[in-house]
Amino acid sequence: MHQMTLAEIARGLADKKFSSEELTKVLLARITQLDPQLNSFISLTEELALKQAKAADVRRANGESGALLGAPIAHKDLFCTQGIRTSCGSKMLDNFKAPYDATVVAKLAAAGAVTLGKTNMDEFAMGSANESSWYGAVKNPWNLEHVPGGSSGGSAAAVAARLLPAATATDTGGSIRQPAAFTNLTGLKPTYGRVSRWGMIAYASSLDQGGPLARTAEDCAILLQGMAGFDQNDSTSIDEPVPDYSASLGDSLQGLRIGVPKEYFSAGLDPRIAELIQNSIKELQKLGAVIKEISLPNMQHAIPAYYVIAPAEASSNLSRFDGVRFGHRCEQPKDLIDLYKRSRGEGFGPEVQRRIMVGAYALSAGYYDAYYLKAQKIRRLVKNDFMAAFNEVDIILGPTTPNTAWKLGAKNSDPVAAYLEDVYTITANLAGLPGLSMPAGFVDGLPVGVQLLAPYFQEGRLLNVAHQYQLNTDWHTRTPTGF
Ligand code: GLN
Repeated sequence: MHQMTLAEIARGLADKKFSSEELTKVLLARITQLDPQLNSFISLTEELALKQAKAADVRRANGESGALLGAPIAHKDLFCTQGIRTSCGSKMLDNFKAPYDATVVAKLAAAGAVTLGKTNMDEFAMGSANESSWYGAVKNPWNLEHVPGGSSGGSAAAVAARLLPAATATDTGGSIRQPAAFTNLTGLKPTYGRVSRWGMIAYASSLDQGGPLARTAEDCAILLQGMAGFDQNDSTSIDEPVPDYSASLGDSLQGLRIGVPKEYFSAGLDPRIAELIQNSIKELQKLGAVIKEISLPNMQHAIPAYYVIAPAEASSNLSRFDGVRFGHRCEQPKDLIDLYKRSRGEGFGPEVQRRIMVGAYALSAGYYDAYYLKAQKIRRLVKNDFMAAFNEVDIILGPTTPNTAWKLGAKNSDPVAAYLEDVYTITANLAGLPGLSMPAGFVDGLPVGVQLLAPYFQEGRLLNVAHQYQLNTDWHTRTPTGF
């Protein structure tokens, strides 16, 4: 049962082959049995799951239908869940029970999805390896000595290990696409403003976007359908109609213009990954796509710009965690300053503290123009590069990451080495564009992802291309040994 995709589960439930309650029990037992190896969950919500599953079964018995009605999922632990711990992977929020549901959580619950639990993540979504979590590192089911990627490493490891079919995640600089690549999943970062950020604990507000992590593009379409839409509670939510993402999966790729940026194939890219990307290009050509070389000349500036803008926004967003309004409070403070210092010093881990310091520095008087403002100008140039490219092509294709998942601990002493691994993903966040990563093969037994980028609100096009590719390849069907 645990091998089924969301689409298969929806068919099985509709055909009364099993109930949501039965499936939920199977998956909860599987999580209890296998997750100790992975550490992909921070909290399990058995009671809620069984209640939601029973309710979904009743709704189906009463004639209701829907692809998510009775479908088991989990939420990255930065989506607020009423009455349930929402930790953001941090000691700071270890005791925080959200007083309300995030819009994404409420929408999926209303569609009948069953919440099995909250997944592990890098602290405040800062990281690319899921090693900065207060709850400990997550292991990659493809090789337990390697990281699953981050920051949505818990959602990725859980779905890859078939503990559940799909999960929510968020992507500020790659945190959906990079863990998808590292664990052989399909993950989609929507256009900025497509999915409500209300109740999603902020890392960098102008970059954060929620989206689906699943095994197939078909399943990403189902989950995104439940997440997307205008929300008046989020001032950056965009009031655009949500298309039927499943309806366009079958469209032909005949004549699709795919741009391949020449900058993507630089010295930093593992040549074995480059070869797999070329294979995926050939596959799409067979399906009728036309390839064109393009250029994204400002890509080289994206990492420094991102690692100024994201920490700057984080330093502001995280100021609310002061032990008074929100978050961990130290024991017996001497005075107010001592309370702030020790509460924040104890509550935040080293990576979060580093980013707060970098961000506060970049925003301070005297340095603002040199760093923050300059980074914002680069951001505009990166966006302009994409706008020029999309005048010529329909999608952009390249690797999701320059290397496969590294060994646990390998980059712990060198944060910049980890930042450099984000080179292919962060540009989409800087520009606000949608991006998808899908399985494209293996190097030394570790998964490799190919990334597709599209113009604003063209999530349907990304899902369509990925689905057609998956109908003709079987990388996405491979299962890690032992799971
Ligand atoms: N690795 C990037 C960072 O550490 C992206 C994280 C994310 O997308 N949440 O900022």
